[in-house]
Amino acid sequence: MDNVDVVVIGAGAAGIAAARALAARHSVLVLEARNRIGGRAWTFRYGDIGLDLGATWLHSADENEWGALAPGLGFAVDAMPPPWERPAHRANFSQSERADYHAAWDRFYQRIDDAAAEESTRLMSEFLEPGGRWNGLLGAMVTYINGVEADQLVVREYAHYRDTLNGRPEWHRGTAYHHPDFDNDDFASFDLGVVILDRPVQLATYGRLPTLRYLDRFKGKEKAQLFESVGYGVETSTPKTETGGDTRRISIQKIVNFNGVHGMGPNIALLFSHNNSSKHTGGTCYGDSGGPTFVAGTNLMVAITSWGIQPNCTGNDVQYRVDQSDDLGWLAAVAAGHPR
Ligand SMILES: Cc1cc2nc3c(=O)[nH]c(=O)nc-3n(C[C@H](O)[C@H](O)[C@H](O)COP(=O)(O)OP(=O)(O)OC[C@H]3O[C@@H](n4cnc5c(N)ncnc54)[C@H](O)[C@@H]3O)c2cc1C
Repeated sequence: MDNVDVVVIGAGAAGIAAARALAARHSVLVLEARNRIGGRAWTFRYGDIGLDLGATWLHSADENEWGALAPGLGFAVDAMPPPWERPAHRANFSQSERADYHAAWDRFYQRIDDAAAEESTRLMSEFLEPGGRWNGLLGAMVTYINGVEADQLVVREYAHYRDTLNGRPEWHRGTAYHHPDFDNDDFASFDLGVVILDRPVQLATYGRLPTLRYLDRFKGKEKAQLFESVGYGVETSTPKTETGGDTRRISIQKIVNFNGVHGMGPNIALLFSHNNSSKHTGGTCYGDSGGPTFVAGTNLMVAITSWGIQPNCTGNDVQYRVDQSDDLGWLAAVAAGHPR
């Protein structure tokens, strides 16, 4: 003991990381009270089955240190957006209830951001609206995200943690804009957005936009043209499980017809079928919304996966047309530096 430079108390993730970092230059001893390491992250093993009794998710894996470390440790990182970030069409909550919840979320975090800017030591729970309808769900999300209840989390500490995650230099930062007429309560209309990166990123090739009403040329000969929809890599989806997600996938599609989709006119969105090609390549899944659809074999992006009908990545899905005058006009304005 006398010869040890540093004693680390606790072999949870923080203690192990600290000990590893220190071990490069110091002698280190880690003391753990339990009979195992890992702390609140513990996978209980029963034969081949692993059950996470603590941490399960790499929250914000796109900006979480562990997202970069995990592949080197032999873990595949599922890059699919988590279920709570994916819009579901007509699910348990109505669109207006969801909008109400998201508005409450925005107000809650705005108050916290304001307080964090002043290094507030108040608890996050103090920023919930008194009697607010969504307080239970907002509090649950705080706990899921931070691993501690809102009445035990100091705003300043939360902000430091968040800023650490956001401070990674290798992520491309940008500002998201949506079509000026987009309405969260009716997300299938004007379902178009862009992200303007803070700094340019050079690519070998870029997508191209279609000319006005480009897709109309396939009216009456819908089955003649193949399209490629790009998703986030989900490979199997059932009502209870999803697998895949770490590799981008392409599904070959065809337009079903120009009759319109679920009350939306054919000039806004078209129904595409996954099952129309001779070589079946699978279809878009929940979570693929927002992915581009190209004329097969080209970089011409004509539509965007808007929402699906079948829960198991088969059958038909709805594609939002980007060859509409308002969309092309807005994208031209964006390119000219006027995203609003
Ligand atoms: C049920 C649950 C689910 C979670 N889910 C997620 C998730 O999905 N994703 C996520 O990112 N995070 C999740 N978390 C949070 C995550 O587990 C923790 O943030 C993380 O494991 C904390 O690591 P740590 O090293 O800071 O602390 P801990 O893991 O708590 O480690 C502290 C260690 O110190 C030891 N110790 C304490 N006092 C002493 C002492 N005096 N002497 C010796 N040893 C001592 C403890 O026994 C423990 O092993 C979850 C937490 C829980 C409880």
